[in-house]
Amino acid sequence: MSAQKETRVLRYGAEAIAEAARLIRAGEVVAMPTETVYGLAADATNPQAVERVYAAKGRPSFNPLIVHVAGLAEAEAIGLFEDAARRLAAAFWPGPLTLVVPLREGSGIAPLVTAGLATIAVRAPAHRAMRDLIAAAGRPLAAPSANASGAISPTSAAHVVRSLGGRIPLVVDGGATERGLESTIVRVGQGGVGILRPGPVSIEQVEAACGGTHPQPLPSREGRVVAPGMMASHYAPSKPVRLEATDAAADEWLIGFGAVAGDESLSASGDLEEAAANLFAALHRAEASARPRIAVAPVPEARLGVAINDRLRRAAAPRGA
Ligand code: AMP
Ligand code: MG
Repeated sequence: MSAQKETRVLRYGAEAIAEAARLIRAGEVVAMPTETVYGLAADATNPQAVERVYAAKGRPSFNPLIVHVAGLAEAEAIGLFEDAARRLAAAFWPGPLTLVVPLREGSGIAPLVTAGLATIAVRAPAHRAMRDLIAAAGRPLAAPSANASGAISPTSAAHVVRSLGGRIPLVVDGGATERGLESTIVRVGQGGVGILRPGPVSIEQVEAACGGTHPQPLPSREGRVVAPGMMASHYAPSKPVRLEATDAAADEWLIGFGAVAGDESLSASGDLEEAAANLFAALHRAEASARPRIAVAPVPEARLGVAINDRLRRAAAPRGA
């Protein structure tokens, strides 16, 4: 656990980015909005800075970080891209797709970023604030979600302050995040393409961009963990969560979807994009409510629903699983 410090919140703008870049160059960590969730950014080439990310989150050191870069040229300086990886980058960058590729020798990336693996996870984010910071800092940024390890992901600056206040010097406030779910993670190499984590870019979209190569099935469906950080329990509120609920017991806060109204709804019209954007904020409110249990309505297992259900299953899994 890192020492208590004052956490400043600055609205996104030129001043906030200049201050964030100064802190990054000094080896500090800074919480930033991205189009997925808020991230905790550090200089990926500075071992002490990366160490601070793990310390602030209480993240186990076997769980590697995603490196954020401006685009494909910068990504190719740290990873080895074959044709399929280039096609995926061209189709979805900047955007919520992370590619896991072989690490390039002499990349300069601190070994703790990749948890000592021979591969690296890299993406080019679309959010202007994060793009501005990458340019101003002039180096690749390692950035996991800006929350204590295992807890609900942050989709607003207030969520970050609640989870990491006193542990980091600065949060850049860019309002609510647009997508609300972490990036899709795809591994490319060893003769195949595999989905490691479902996210805003759907499996069907990945398939189409690969030109008919069928990505291997999701790790959760195979019943084994492929990405080292994909623990069964994650994104977890401090209360029990019951899934597939069509009505609520008296002591449950019900998060609805479509025809199930609930105490609040992910999307009353059954819109999956709206539901994804609302998911983590709804879990934060459910956690803060006076009721001791949380129930969540069924969400269809199609397109974005696959990623939403992945997060919900982990939120509902017993702690320590
Ligand atoms: P987060 O930073 O919370 O969005 O989580 C990042 C995810 O990326 C975790 O599930 C990691 O296990 C995964 N990841 C990062 N680097 C690699 C890698 N080299 N190979 C496989 N998965 C990775
Ligand atoms: Mg996370």
